[in-house]
Amino acid sequence: MSASLSLACIADDFTGATDLANNLVRAGWRTLQLLGLPEEGKSFVNAAGEPLDEKQLFAQTDAVVVALKSRTIDPLQAQAMSLRAWQWLQARGAKRCYFKVCSTFDSTDKGNIGPVADALMEALKADFALVCPAFPAGGRTVFRGHLFVGDQLLSDSGMKDHPLTPMTDSNLVRVLQRQSKHRIGLIDYQIIAQGPKAIAQRIEQLKADGVRMAIADATSDQDLHVLGKLVMEQSLVVAGSGIAIGFEAPGAMGQNLSGESPSGESPSGESLSGEIPGGHNPHGQSTHESVAFLPRQTGPGLILSGSCSLASQAQVKHFLQQSKTSNDVSLAIDPLKLARDEQAKATWMQDYVACLARLFEQTSKAQAIHAKPRPPRLLVYATAQAESVKQVQDALGIDIASAWIESLMADLAKEAKRFGVRRFVVAGGETSGAVVQALDVKLLKIGAQIDPGVPWTESLQGFALALKSGNFGAEDFFTKALDLLDA
Ligand code: ADP
Repeated sequence: MSASLSLACIADDFTGATDLANNLVRAGWRTLQLLGLPEEGKSFVNAAGEPLDEKQLFAQTDAVVVALKSRTIDPLQAQAMSLRAWQWLQARGAKRCYFKVCSTFDSTDKGNIGPVADALMEALKADFALVCPAFPAGGRTVFRGHLFVGDQLLSDSGMKDHPLTPMTDSNLVRVLQRQSKHRIGLIDYQIIAQGPKAIAQRIEQLKADGVRMAIADATSDQDLHVLGKLVMEQSLVVAGSGIAIGFEAPGAMGQNLSGESPSGESPSGESLSGEIPGGHNPHGQSTHESVAFLPRQTGPGLILSGSCSLASQAQVKHFLQQSKTSNDVSLAIDPLKLARDEQAKATWMQDYVACLARLFEQTSKAQAIHAKPRPPRLLVYATAQAESVKQVQDALGIDIASAWIESLMADLAKEAKRFGVRRFVVAGGETSGAVVQALDVKLLKIGAQIDPGVPWTESLQGFALALKSGNFGAEDFFTKALDLLDA
């Protein structure tokens, strides 16, 4: 994406968008994440409900990531949604598109990676697209077209039991071929190791053979650096967030989305005329770190975990363990019981509200005596092991179970907002989508990284949000995220 840079990204879920935005910030890009598009004819509004000056917004922005919730919807709907996002970005000067997919290539044989990539290729008139979900820092590598999660093949990993997109084939050429109308090829590790020239030659050869998309192997950050620079020259890339680590900082590149040069402006991304909360910069010095910041919100933290991924299971376990010796509390969601019994659900909701009330009571008592214990945290989780997820799904139906839990998570977030909670940690891509919609969050400024793939973010309304894709984050992620804000 050389001199006339316009980096427009479309992500198929919310946490995936944040993951990409995180890598862009780390590469020195001032990045905004839009949660869907504003309604036709409407613009974004600030916390006071006043419309934001779009031109000014984009003049202080190097990259825009539009987060869709299109990963598991009907493929035709996903195509329409993605095309609308692309047209919106194109109307604002975008020339090139980064279609961000999950690093575990979450999809089914119907899509939606293939159908959306096909539609974007057509819209962009792209004759080729490189496809690479690899993100070695997060344990995702691609070798001979096969995706690994840590030491395991994708099909042996926890992803084989995913509630919505079980991944039972590790061969991404095969996986994508089942979803796309185009021929899919491979650029293997030997070609990648030979560098940009060999890769470019391989692409030409693949094109001559009628291949329109190719999975690229990548097993190291070095590979991503090579691929990142290469895809900057292409109109469409289909990738996880990893390839963005190979992008050069935009100062070296030229223009931003609105076509204006960022030179002469502070790279700190400090406030868009005070309209977007800026937070404080934890690092200060280098260009890369100076676009990162930590949100300033104080008070109790709410952790909502609707992810059943192995990493989330370990994080919930860790939180429960540490809560035995801290002022933190937790509430489990039993979908089988609560979805079928209105009375049980009402009682459970009362418990939840009582927990929130206690958190604020504790915080104000501590303030009254000028004590400074760290604010308490509440974890609410539906997170469960594969066996129990299956039981729930068998009893309620897969879609109904997911929709019921997501809708409960949305209600919990709304209630917490009424109580004055300003710090949210959410585990799960779909769950995060439900929560940000419930909080009416439309735009996020991307801040400092918590763990690979997950940054702190801040919304226009002043919520601090850590949106974690299920598989991401270390065991202590929940407490680590909130500790960062309390440091
Ligand atoms: P991840 O990022 O780990 O894939 P998601 O939030 O995207 O997490 O998806 C997890 C899905 O599983 C959500 O739709 C959620 O509502 C659903 N879910 C969560 N807990 C359970 C459970 N105990 N039983 C059945 N489904 C569940």
